[in-house]
Amino acid sequence: MVDFPLIFERSKPGRLGCNPPRCDVPETDLDSLLGSHRRQEAAELPEVGELEVVRHFTNLSHRNYGIDTGFYPLGSCTMKYNPRINEAVAANPAFALTHPLQPVETAQGCLEVIHDLQTWMAETTGFDTATMQPPAGASGELLCLLLIKAYHESQGQGHRSIVLVPDSAHGTNPASAARAGYTVQPVKTDGRGGTDIDDLKAHLNDNVAAMMLTNPSTLGLFEDKILEICDLIHGAGAQVFCDGANMNAIVGVTRPGDAGFDCMHLNLHKTFSTPHGGGGPGCGCIGVKAHLEPFLPVPIVAKGGDAYVLNYDRPHSVGRVHTFYGNFLMNVRAWAYVRAYGRQGLPEIAKHAVLNANYLRKRIEHEFPMPHPDRICMHEAVLTGAPLKKETGIRALDISKRLIDYGFHPPTNYFPLIVPECLMIEPTETETKETIDAFCDAMLAIADEARANPQLLKDAPTTQPVGRLDEAYAAKTLDVCWQPSKVAEPVLP
Ligand SMILES: *Cc1c(COP(=O)(O)O)cnc(C)c1O
Repeated sequence: MVDFPLIFERSKPGRLGCNPPRCDVPETDLDSLLGSHRRQEAAELPEVGELEVVRHFTNLSHRNYGIDTGFYPLGSCTMKYNPRINEAVAANPAFALTHPLQPVETAQGCLEVIHDLQTWMAETTGFDTATMQPPAGASGELLCLLLIKAYHESQGQGHRSIVLVPDSAHGTNPASAARAGYTVQPVKTDGRGGTDIDDLKAHLNDNVAAMMLTNPSTLGLFEDKILEICDLIHGAGAQVFCDGANMNAIVGVTRPGDAGFDCMHLNLHKTFSTPHGGGGPGCGCIGVKAHLEPFLPVPIVAKGGDAYVLNYDRPHSVGRVHTFYGNFLMNVRAWAYVRAYGRQGLPEIAKHAVLNANYLRKRIEHEFPMPHPDRICMHEAVLTGAPLKKETGIRALDISKRLIDYGFHPPTNYFPLIVPECLMIEPTETETKETIDAFCDAMLAIADEARANPQLLKDAPTTQPVGRLDEAYAAKTLDVCWQPSKVAEPVLP
């Protein structure tokens, strides 16, 4: 169904895309230089002119859907607008071309950016210090658990082997705990969508190393028993980690450090608007209380007198989670973003994100209710398509696929796992009322279609180059490399 020829299909023997200049260095005998490493057969490359290449990639780029082309309410991902000024600042050669190995005297501005951001992130989250090294949220989670482990060992508590994770948690939480060598035990969610205190108490003993809590939770709800929960966990000698990927709901309004958490991670690539897609470079910076500080990764960016220095002299450090200083240009973007909003502006982000999510939720909840209808949601509306499924047989997945025909990126589906037919919708603060209304209109129209013409939804999407794909098959048998011998596979129904 692809309606433009792919690059190999445009190929014609002998056609050239470039005209290299004549060789102006002595030619070398490649056999003696490469020996048996020299390839024996010519590579099967497309033979095309430059214009064909340009058309190929330009057409492909038009197949992308991104925040710059439309509404992208993918819950838990905070797909908000990235102000262009951040990109302009990050593209400045003084940042972009700095080499990580150049002498620190010549990279003072870069170190100042990292140092400023460490300070601001610690202040915004209520922790004593922060590091920018982890390149992703999951990496920040893992680092926090390694710090907790090192701390317990330093206290003669190295036997603690269990990490508690709510049954609503993001999949990276149990994965990080297992990666850090811990046994994961799930804690139940109560009838109001919070941590089930009785179940938590039943799990607490002196083998528990930590609890990983997301606040606001992945149900989009603020954990209002957070003070009691932190007290209970500390009372059992364990530590509390905050998954802060959902900071967009509370940035500038409340600080997890004040609630009693010992450490947390933030996703700069969610809350602080650095581009976020395709698993590209991110920053999962972490904030920690003073008792975890000795174990932070090297190097620490510090201020020594008038100059910034890289401190490697840290005997208790757990080592590194990334080369050099993490993804530095993410720091530059976040720095520009924080400076643009300022102390007064940051809370406005959270307030508008929460307002937009509640507005959206209220407009469609008669068709797609919240599982905890008496609660105010935070930055995202976690809704259920279960009533519609019961009535019409239409699943959350069908609704999402039909949204593509209406020109919207689908919301997150089937996560958190504890909500049946889950639709996790995060509008973010950067969308207009008109855009949110258009999305709500589409959701309500789809609910009508589910009753009138359910086949329409089961066939969706019908407006794209490919139809309904078998996503499990595509993920399990990942094939991203075109091979000349392969015949194009038919698109699955
Ligand atoms: C995105 C997210 C993570 C993981 O962040 P990555 O940068 O994708 O590794 C963890 N927890 C929650 C709640 C998230 O939304």
